[in-house]
Amino acid sequence: MSPPNILYSAALLIAGGVCLFVAAIILTRRRVTGATALLTLLSALAWWDITYAIFWADVPGPNPNFWLDITYLGVVTVPPALFVFSLQLANLTHWLKRPLAVLIYLVPVIVLILFFTDPYHGFFFAGRRKENVAYILDAGPVFWFNVAFSYALILFATILFVRTYLRSSGVYRKQVGLVIFAMSIPWVNSIIFMLGINPLPGADNTPFSFTIAAVAFAYSLLRHHLLDVVPVARDVLIEKMADGVLVLDSQNRVVDINQTAKTLLNVSEDALGLPAEQMLSHLGAKCRDAFSSQRSDFNVELKGNITTYLEAKSTPIRDQKNNLLGRLIVLHDITKLKGIQNELRLLASRDSLTGAVNRRHFMELAKRELTRAKRYKRSFALILMDMDGFKKVNDTYGHQAGDQALLMLKKICTQGTRIVDVFARFGGEEFALMMPETSLDSAAIIAERLRATLESTVIKSGSHKFNVTISMGVTECGRRKDDTLDAMLSRADKALYHAKEKGRNQVQILRAERKST
Ligand code: GH3
Ligand code: MG
Ligand code: MG
Repeated sequence: MSPPNILYSAALLIAGGVCLFVAAIILTRRRVTGATALLTLLSALAWWDITYAIFWADVPGPNPNFWLDITYLGVVTVPPALFVFSLQLANLTHWLKRPLAVLIYLVPVIVLILFFTDPYHGFFFAGRRKENVAYILDAGPVFWFNVAFSYALILFATILFVRTYLRSSGVYRKQVGLVIFAMSIPWVNSIIFMLGINPLPGADNTPFSFTIAAVAFAYSLLRHHLLDVVPVARDVLIEKMADGVLVLDSQNRVVDINQTAKTLLNVSEDALGLPAEQMLSHLGAKCRDAFSSQRSDFNVELKGNITTYLEAKSTPIRDQKNNLLGRLIVLHDITKLKGIQNELRLLASRDSLTGAVNRRHFMELAKRELTRAKRYKRSFALILMDMDGFKKVNDTYGHQAGDQALLMLKKICTQGTRIVDVFARFGGEEFALMMPETSLDSAAIIAERLRATLESTVIKSGSHKFNVTISMGVTECGRRKDDTLDAMLSRADKALYHAKEKGRNQVQILRAERKST
């Protein structure tokens, strides 16, 4: 018969009370979801602490072993509850399907049944139980099986805590760190016990060590809504988002990445923990630099069979003390938008009938070319052209025939010039051609060739076959620094007017004034 140990018993009662108190707090916080395992753990520990306290207070029960026996209800519940808690923390509750769930929940029940029915078969104690002794240090096969099973669950839970720690960041990492620290208490207690260096010989510190651990778990959960926020928000919101989400820590390591981001950036499943530079090593240096930079907005161009365009928005993540923990980068696929943008730009810059560049776009390109030509003292020629007697063409053969003539002119002028030359429709039946790196004389020769080609080309429209002619005015960019595009256009227009005046179907040139500045 062990002597009543009031001090030890009181300490156990306090520990049990603390468990119940913390469980009550968790229950009153409505938003703490997923804490069922922790509530089970706290309840099992309260049961263990309190029934054990009653045993140590030497309260008589219905039979001599009564209080010790019912302690076992709590003892067998602690390891599975702890394991399930570690799954919840690691966001791995989907593991809890058969056969694992059956094993976790059924084994303690069977062990309990065999424990309570031991007098009939002896599988648990194997006849080695000493009456009213708290410690069971040696017993039958079921006892040893349960020891191994419990240690295995606690070991798995600890491994899962460490895994969660390695995969989490910032504030979550700190919290999981606390959980790991708490989990080390029962382990240290076990080691001390096995080494036989218990500072309080005869007393069993196991319920205390687990109670301290469970209370620390509850603290981290309540303080930061750990179970609350992580699994729900991450799984449902982040993983299923149409946008890519990438979380980098302060050293630009990948802390989190959702499926969309993996697909968009074409990165492997195992990107977690890698430096962003390494994860994006298959992309260009420009792209990697953009991700490493602290810019809040940047665009990413991913070259491949089809080029993908991503718009990235980066937001710093800070803790309550405003320390930078990392960055949240949201990636939005704007490839389609870019395509539409390009199409619109093309439409806005082209003439709908001929597909030639329109006047506005021509002016932009010509201004740029003129600046370049002046800076590098290069030659640059400009041709203005106007169909001859076009009104008559329309009147004689119809508007459609006139359109065919315009299309033919466009064909001749684009096929008969270089890719760098820009052919534009200025409006109606007036066109312009700009020729970089081309002298006035060369441009005049090209103009003459184009004119002659058009003249000799038969245009077909329905049953009509006809020829059209064109007049052209050619000028060049002057050596004067103050030559402008307007001045060039005005000179070309003058030359064109001369061509018309002199009888049409011809090329006239007008040199720029050669006065030096
Ligand atoms: P000129 O030799 O003096 O240039 O005589 P012209 O008849 O060409 O001169 P005018 O400027 O009077 O006539 C231009 C005509 O071009 C008037 C218009 O009907 C025709 N035109 C303008 N745009 C188009 C077009 O898109 N398609 C067709 N078929 N004709 C057009
Ligand atoms: Mg005209
Ligand atoms: Mg005309």
